[in-house]
Amino acid sequence: MTDLPIRPDLVGASPYGAPQLDVAVRLNTNENSHPLPSELVSDIAVAVATAAAGLNRYPDREAAALRSDLARYLGHGLSTAQVWAANGSNEVIQQLLQVFGGTGRSALGFTPTYSMHPIISSGTGTAFVDGRREAGFALTAAGVRAQVEQHRPDLVFLCSPNNPTGTALPLDVIQAAYDATAGMVIVDEAYAEFARPGTPSALTLLPSRPRLVVTRTMSKAFGMAGLRLGYLAADQAVVDAVRLVRLPYHLSTLTQVAARAALTHAPALLETVAAVMAQRDRIVAELPAYGLTSVPSDANFVLFGGMPDAKEMWQALLDRGVLVRDVGLPGWLRVTAGTETETSAFLAALADIAGLAG
Ligand SMILES: *Cc1c(COP(=O)(O)O)cnc(C)c1O
Repeated sequence: MTDLPIRPDLVGASPYGAPQLDVAVRLNTNENSHPLPSELVSDIAVAVATAAAGLNRYPDREAAALRSDLARYLGHGLSTAQVWAANGSNEVIQQLLQVFGGTGRSALGFTPTYSMHPIISSGTGTAFVDGRREAGFALTAAGVRAQVEQHRPDLVFLCSPNNPTGTALPLDVIQAAYDATAGMVIVDEAYAEFARPGTPSALTLLPSRPRLVVTRTMSKAFGMAGLRLGYLAADQAVVDAVRLVRLPYHLSTLTQVAARAALTHAPALLETVAAVMAQRDRIVAELPAYGLTSVPSDANFVLFGGMPDAKEMWQALLDRGVLVRDVGLPGWLRVTAGTETETSAFLAALADIAGLAG
């Protein structure tokens, strides 16, 4: 690769690379471990079979039916015109950066946060500025306002609940970012469905805020990471702007029909969310028994720390058949809340490592 005439700003960059290892208990990419309901699987099969006959034609470029279903799922009075969908929220974010970022422009995020925000920024030629968090990985309205005023970014990324720390943001932090910038504010709510009761969504802030965008995904709570379907809600003008950069027919007919079939099963799919949240809370409750601590989580994962050496702990868990995520944060690891059995395997491995087994 080093011999190729690639863009100078990409020389030395590394691709996104969560290990895809063949391990019994994979708790490293925040997927929903629960199998999809069999009625959903057969509905998708029927929808795909029906659509297959029409694959000689391009898909609906506007994905209008799917966007209408997504708007209904989101509620908050959102219309089809305010919702946009693409192949994963990563593509949604890429489209936002293509239209609002790019060469000579910058995006501000608050590390540690979702690793794809800087990677997609770099891919679109957008400079990424690493903002700072307070103790305990918190963000405050005053801290965010000061950093937005200092860096004057064209886009501000706020991830709520934040990956990898897990905590959702109070709305006043989002409002502070919005009021301090003339640029776009993107709230990545990939884990919104897992938030603790009473946690408000940034969707409630959309009315009268034309530069605010909320992104969501079917990869996490919906358990459909393999489908590749993400979406945004914003002012209609944002959707119009994204059309300037989206590839024509970016969302295949098969993706559109499969996503629509899945949305008709939303209540059944979301039942697994409660089960996952219970396992998350179980992890949080059990960690202190092994001398470990955690960060408050509104997501389907827990950031845990307090071990002498995180890399050693990662390997020790892997040696016991449990794959967690080293997010590159010294002293911390991230574990996905999976099924009850997977969580038990993780906790048993911790007990074994701590010498408390049996
Ligand atoms: C997993 C994740 C996503 C999902 O991306 P998709 O492309 O929709 O699969 C988005 N944002 C955050 C913060 C995530 O952790």
